[in-house]
Formats: sequence, structure tokens, C-alpha cells
Amino acid sequence: MDILVNSLYSNKDIFLRELISNASDALDKIRFLSLTNKEILGEGDNTKLEIQINLDKEKKVLSIRDRGIGMTREDLIKNLGTIAKSGTSAFVEKMHSGGDLNLIGQFGVGFYSVYLVADYVEVISKHNDDKQYIWESKADGSFAISEDVWNEPLGRGTEIRLHLREEAGEYLEEFKLKELVKKYSEFINFPIYIWASKE
Ligand code: ADP
Ligand code: MG
Repeated sequence: MDILVNSLYSNKDIFLRELISNASDALDKIRFLSLTNKEILGEGDNTKLEIQINLDKEKKVLSIRDRGIGMTREDLIKNLGTIAKSGTSAFVEKMHSGGDLNLIGQFGVGFYSVYLVADYVEVISKHNDDKQYIWESKADGSFAISEDVWNEPLGRGTEIRLHLREEAGEYLEEFKLKELVKKYSEFINFPIYIWASKE
């Protein structure tokens, strides 16, 4: 993890591109399923295929939320749970031999770029086939997962809360976020909204 984090340090903005791209993938999946099964979208807010970014300056939390397919408990464990995913070592190896940091997404380890800016990450997720779960992890590679009985029901989808590192405060600035979202959303087919708490 440390090697991964350090090798990427010079370009930490990319965490947002990776999160937006994951949110977009999740929205694509539910939209695709809805073509043959309209019911799957549910009703009300659940039908809004969008991405929301929230800046909480007081708590120093940046969150990104989608109404995509969501993850079951098993998905959370399988997809986020193991740093030993084959892609991670392949990526680290590539970086050591002078690869391009920008390619992180292609190694199936894009999610781990959150640790460039956060030292504690919570992932709340609700899939149609399961209850709402919360996955949490510090940058040390260990994680915990439990049924989420604390947060508001998501309906469907995923919310990723990044508890930002001291030195990553710039990502709570609205202008900085807007600039990055503009840069990374060029090929994203879903609306992205930014909400910022008042100072
Ligand atoms: P990749 O996107 O290349 O598969 P990532 O490390 O970015 O690799 O993400 C790992 C996996 O975690 C994804 O393949 C997906 O299954 C799951 N995932 C990550 N973010 C989300 C999300 N917002 N909604 C649903 N699943 C997600
Ligand atoms: Mg990804």
C-alpha cells in the first residue's frame, strides 16, 4: 500500500477521476439492466442516474455518491476487500520499471488511489439484492464491514466518504473540485452535481 501511495503521490488529483469512473460504470450497469427490466430502477430518487459530490469542510470529508448498481456485502468484500488483488502487484511492478502513473485505472486498482488523499475511507452501499452495508478501512489494508444501521438509507447505489489527510485540504475547495470535475467528466454520460457546505 505504501509503495502504491508513494509512487502515485505526485499526481494525486487522479483519485477523483477513478471515483467518477467507478460511479459511471455502476450507473452504466443499472441502466443496461433497466433496458430489459424497467422495475429494476425502482421509483422516486432511485431513478435519477446521477453522481453527487459533497464537500463537508467542517468534518473534512469529501464524499461521492452514485445511484448505480451498488454492491452487496459479498461484492464489497470481493471488490474492495483485498489489497492483494493481482492488479495491485502488477501495477506496483510496472511503476518500479518506470510506468505511467496515469494508468492506474487500467490495472483494476483505481479505487486504491483514494489513499492518496484520505487516511480513512467509508463505503456505504446498497444493491437491490441485499441490505445496506458499510465498509470501512484505514490506509493499512485492513477493513471492517457491517450492516449499515446508522446512515440514511441510500435507496440504491454507493457513497464513498473520504476522510481527507491533513495535507489534502485543497479538495474541500469548491473551485478546485469544479476544475477537476470539469477535467475528468468529459466522457461521462451522467450529470455530476457538487454540493458544498457553507463556510
Ligand atoms: P476497476 O474499476 O478497474 O474494476 P477499481 O479499483 O476502480 O477497479 O474498482 C474495483 C471494483 O469495485 C469495481 O470493479 C467495482 O466492482 C467495484 N466498485 C468500485 N466503485 C464502485 C461503485 N461506485 N459502485 C459499484 N461498484 C463499485
Ligand atoms: Mg475503476
